[in-house]
Amino acid sequence: LSRLRRTEPSVRSFIHVADAAAEREAEELDRRIASGKKDAVGPLAGVLVGVKDNLCTTNMPSTGGSRILDGYRPAYDATAVRRLREAGAIVVGKTNLDEFGMGSTTEGSAFQVTTNPWDDSRVPGGSSGGSASAVSARQCVVSLGSDTGGSVRQPASFCGVVGLKPTYGRVSRFGLMAYASSLDVVGCFGSSVFDTATILSVVAGHDKMDSTSSSQDVPDYASELVSLDLLESKPLNGLRVGIIQETLGEGVDTGVVSSIKDAASHLERLGSVVEEVSLPSFSLGLPAYYILASSEASSNLSRYDGIRYGSQVSADDLNEIYGESRANGLGHEVQYSQLSIYYDHAPLVKMRILMGTYALSAGYYDAYYKRAQQVRTLVKESFKGALERYDILISPAAPSAAYKIGEKINDPLAMYAGDIMTVNVNLAGLPALVVPCGFVEGGAVGLPVGLQMIGSPFSEGNLLRVGHIFE
Ligand code: GLN
Repeated sequence: LSRLRRTEPSVRSFIHVADAAAEREAEELDRRIASGKKDAVGPLAGVLVGVKDNLCTTNMPSTGGSRILDGYRPAYDATAVRRLREAGAIVVGKTNLDEFGMGSTTEGSAFQVTTNPWDDSRVPGGSSGGSASAVSARQCVVSLGSDTGGSVRQPASFCGVVGLKPTYGRVSRFGLMAYASSLDVVGCFGSSVFDTATILSVVAGHDKMDSTSSSQDVPDYASELVSLDLLESKPLNGLRVGIIQETLGEGVDTGVVSSIKDAASHLERLGSVVEEVSLPSFSLGLPAYYILASSEASSNLSRYDGIRYGSQVSADDLNEIYGESRANGLGHEVQYSQLSIYYDHAPLVKMRILMGTYALSAGYYDAYYKRAQQVRTLVKESFKGALERYDILISPAAPSAAYKIGEKINDPLAMYAGDIMTVNVNLAGLPALVVPCGFVEGGAVGLPVGLQMIGSPFSEGNLLRVGHIFE
């Protein structure tokens, strides 16, 4: 907690810090242990977790990074949060994010800019930037994020931590503020694969409050991780690895490409067979993702109307209440004076709503939404084919390392292009693990690069085993 207090003024990972409450919970835990009631404490007793602020929490605000939910206090915990608490974990605060998860830098938060702990002039990535920076700066042990198109994996890569995007349906979405419901998953951050595996086992599993959550058994992922004497064995013997050709070409930083190639050689030294594999539909994923995600968002965000939720601008006419409340609450202009930079808080959310409404409108539906759904099927099938031949597919988690704050805020297309490595995985609903694998030049000590490992549905255990050995 004292580390959190010391680092928070420069990192700004948290929208809300509950350090005093965390301290009280920890003291209560100490008392219980001292009185011999050890059995009464759960497996995560005393573990500090950070929770992305688009996950509902009862005793803390939950804003989704948006002014429109300023002051909102949910009446229930998201299932993932409830399960962590039942296991004894202490929620130490709510982490910063791009408004409702839309963005790749966390600059799209209505409240503050989070900095990258490796270099405070750079972004932590996004949209779960606060959850990634909090673990990277060791402000908490593990954290929860959400990943609709890369929001766990890209910030994990930028901040040099482990990030897991589970299979669609592996973790309940109950209490996660919906962005694009067919793509959204709750994901986990840790500073090691072991920590990440530990919380996945706690949060995963069927939930009657989310009909899309899977009833597949949840393994004890951490206990399945094997420690081997790497010097004397080839622990990955028999593992077939496909390195996705399309992810190492034009537009990808050379330093990132060489880190990924080094990682591939490392996997080979550990006994696996690595081959190049082509996914011809790979580049189609990005436009399809932005059409589908925006379409779903335009529908999901209609609930923020100033009446059912959110701060209300009063007016005489109902339509005016809706219009003014949304105009005022979504994509609000903010001055980031702490950073002595000024820019309009880009109306990312409003732009998405407009794009999505357009793509769904009667005249354009076939040309955009339907076509994007067809591309989604192609993407799914090409992954399926490749994963019949390979146990895992690897790629960078992002085309570059962390870039400067402000660099892309006024160029949304450049920002969207940075999601090329991750969005296909959401379209296909697959699990993917990001582990730090190298550094490129930048900042005072270099900037981390993450390796993305993609597997078949519900193969989280395998990804974590490989990631653990690789680590
Ligand atoms: N950057 C992507 C977007 O803005 C992904 C965000 C996410 O996964 N929540 O849509």
